[in-house]
Amino acid sequence: MAYGITMLGWVDYVGLTRCRAVPPQQLASRLEHGLGWAVAGQALTPFAEIAPNPWGPMAEVRQVPDPSAHACLPAYEGRAPFDLYLCDSLNPDGSSWECCTRGFLRQALAALESEFGLRFFGAFEHEFTLSGATSPAAPPFTVEALRIAPRFTADLADALTQAGLEPETVEPEYGSMQYEVTTAPATGLAAADRAILTREVIREVARWHGLRATFSPKPSLDAVGNGAHLHFSFADADGSNVTYDPSTSSQASPFAQGFIAGVLDHMPALVAYTAPSPVSYLRLGPHHWSCGFASFGIQNREAAIRICPSPARDPAGQARGFNLEYRPADATASPYMIVGALIQAGLSGVRRQLPLPPACDVDPAELSEARRHELGIVPLPATLSEALSALEADAIASSWMPETMRRSYVDLKRLEQKLAEAQPPEEVCRRHAAVY
Ligand code: GLU
Ligand code: MG
Repeated sequence: MAYGITMLGWVDYVGLTRCRAVPPQQLASRLEHGLGWAVAGQALTPFAEIAPNPWGPMAEVRQVPDPSAHACLPAYEGRAPFDLYLCDSLNPDGSSWECCTRGFLRQALAALESEFGLRFFGAFEHEFTLSGATSPAAPPFTVEALRIAPRFTADLADALTQAGLEPETVEPEYGSMQYEVTTAPATGLAAADRAILTREVIREVARWHGLRATFSPKPSLDAVGNGAHLHFSFADADGSNVTYDPSTSSQASPFAQGFIAGVLDHMPALVAYTAPSPVSYLRLGPHHWSCGFASFGIQNREAAIRICPSPARDPAGQARGFNLEYRPADATASPYMIVGALIQAGLSGVRRQLPLPPACDVDPAELSEARRHELGIVPLPATLSEALSALEADAIASSWMPETMRRSYVDLKRLEQKLAEAQPPEEVCRRHAAVY
C-alpha cells in the first residue's frame, strides 16, 4: 500500500500553485482523465477576494497531470513524502483551455519552433527570504549566513538533487536571511516547470525545519528584494546556441539582437506579466540591481535585459555558455507567463527586424535624462496600474493572449491593485510575504 498523497498542481494568474490531491493508487486513472476544477478559481486574487469573471458555476476544466513535470521526495524518518505533478488545464474534448497559463507558454514555444525552428533554454534564479530562524542575522554572503540554518541548506541541496531538479548553487544573498538557489537550464516547458517545482521543494524543506521561505519581491519595505531573474538562450535543431555570434561587436547573433530589441520595445507592457503584483513595484527601481529602466547592457546588472558572455576560455565553451538575462521578473508571476510573454515580446522584435540599441554600461539612473533619451531608455512602470495601462496601450502585446484570457487577467490584476491601494505599503508587503 502506497504511503502519502499525490498532489496535482497548476499555476494560476497570480503565480500560486493551487492543487488537488489523490491517494497514489488513483494516479494511473488521473493521468488519463485528470480531475475536474471549477474555472472561476482562475479569478482568485492571492487572498480571499475573487475578481469579476466570465465563468459561472458550471464552467469546468480537467487538470491533467503531465508525467514529465513531477517532483518527488521519499518519506524519511517520520517525514511525509512529497509528490507533486503539474497539470495542463484541458477542455472536456482534450484541447487546451484558452486561459491555461501552461498552454500560453506552449503556444509561444510553438511559434518559436514553427517560424524559426528554434528551442528555448532557460533557468530561473530563485531568491527567497527565510523567517522563523532563532539565530541573529549574519553579514551578507558569509559562511555564517549560510550556516545559520545548516541542516536546512544541506537538506535543500539533497532534496533538489533527489527530485531531479539539478541544483547548481545554494548561496547566501545580500539581504538578512536571504538566500538564492540556481538550477541547470531546461528546455521549453520544462524550464518553467522546473522553476515551479524548485520553489515548492524549497518551501517544503523550509517547513521540515520549522522555517518559512518567502519569495515575495519585497517581504517588507526595508527588506532586500527577491527577484526571479531568467537566464535564457536559443538552440537550433542541431543543438547549437544561435544566441551567440562572435563576429558581431556584442557577440549577440542577429536573431538575439532582434529579440532583445523586441523585449525592450514591449517592456512597459511585458512587466504586467512578469512583475504582476502591487509589491513587484516596490522591488523594481534603480540602485538595487532589480532594475528601474527598460535598458539593455552587457554584463550590466542594472540593465533589465543583459548579455551574459560565458566565462569559458575555449571557443566551444564560449558558444555554449553565452546567454541573455531578463531581470524584471519575480515569483508573484506564473513562470509560464514570464517565459511565454518574454518569447512573444522577443519574436515581435525579430519579426519587425528591430535594431539592437547601444549597450548601456553604467547604472541608467546615473545618466542625464537627455542621455537616456538618446539611448532610448525609458523608466519601467512605477506601479502595477501603470504596467496594466501600458499593456492595454500596446496592441501587439495585447494580442499575445486570447481575448478572454487577457481581459480576465487584467480585471483580476486591477482588483489586486485596488485592494493594495486601500492599505498602507507595509501591510501590503506583510500580506504578500505571508502568501508568496
Ligand atoms: N535581489 C536583487 C533583485 O531584486 C538581485 C540581486 C542580484 O543581482 O542577484 O533583483
Ligand atoms: Mg541574486
